[in-house]
Amino acid sequence: MSRTRLDRVRARLADQGVDALLVGPSADLRWLVGYEAMPLERLTMLVVPVDGDPTLFVPGLEVARAEASGATDLADLSAWGETDDPIALVAGTVPGDGRLAVQDQLWTSFTLALQETLPGAEWVPGSTVTAPLRMVKDDHEVAALHAVGAAIDDVHARVADLLRPGRTETEVGRDIAELIRGTHDQVSFVIVASGPNGASPHHELSDRVIEVGDPVVVDIGGVLDGYCSDETRNYVVGDVDPAYRELHDVLEAAQAAGVDAVRPGVTAESVDAAARAVIDDAGWGEQFIHRTGHGIGVDGHEPPWIVAGDVTELAPGMAFSVEPGIYVAGRHGARIEDIVVVTEDGVASANHRPRGLTVA
Ligand code: ZN
Ligand code: ZN
Ligand code: ZN
Repeated sequence: MSRTRLDRVRARLADQGVDALLVGPSADLRWLVGYEAMPLERLTMLVVPVDGDPTLFVPGLEVARAEASGATDLADLSAWGETDDPIALVAGTVPGDGRLAVQDQLWTSFTLALQETLPGAEWVPGSTVTAPLRMVKDDHEVAALHAVGAAIDDVHARVADLLRPGRTETEVGRDIAELIRGTHDQVSFVIVASGPNGASPHHELSDRVIEVGDPVVVDIGGVLDGYCSDETRNYVVGDVDPAYRELHDVLEAAQAAGVDAVRPGVTAESVDAAARAVIDDAGWGEQFIHRTGHGIGVDGHEPPWIVAGDVTELAPGMAFSVEPGIYVAGRHGARIEDIVVVTEDGVASANHRPRGLTVA
């Protein structure tokens, strides 16, 4: 949200031989100019040319919101009226035979209209420009990730009290959402996966009644000051099935091995390999059905990807989850997730809740 970010984008446009970056309502827009634009059928678009000043095209009725965000201190404002053609206005500011980067999440309706209006242009994904820049967090962003990490820790600290036999996942989820609202600006997601539902990594909430002996996977996140939290812990209501404890011990060792592998200079995929090796060795490899983690920042999921094939070299300021899981279909599952930040000489965790099984 600063001149610096716009300057870094312009330098990268020059490097990549791209004439302009076109950004609609998105995490890129928030990161660049601090504007949380509404994703509407009316076009909002920031045009960052390789040379010259950026322009923010905004529907007339959104001008007040754009100005209040501070975005108009960083970009020239161009308000368009209800009978104007915003696509033509944007197209008029970029070279018709140029190389244009268009933000990855821009609605297809806008992208197709731009392509029709600028048939001579070459198009590249906006993430080729912004992702490598967004991946390395500055000091302000690292502080924000630690702050939101502490906020979600505070919520997890109160989860065990909410997990009582006879309550449904939905009831517990509603209480958790309330706690997230109390410690964050926004609730992003609430997963309360009890018993066999724990075997489905993205199960959210259901009317299943939590019973004595159920393991419960709780994966929750919110947004505070523009940055995301995401933390998973596993709970057991009452007596712990020894088989589940055994699985959880393996998982805890795997998660620790993943975090221990994090330092500048190693690849993203090596962190996945370190966590996965522990689970493979224990014979649960087939039950670890997803990557070890994802980057996080203004988006809940962003590069780097902690998975085989992502050879991004870790550097200080990169932030991502380390969240191995073991899922036994029809029975139970577990996942332990922390957000970590690469430091000059190693790693710092943004989450500090105990990683062991919590008996509620
Ligand atoms: Zn996920
Ligand atoms: Zn999560
Ligand atoms: Zn996650």
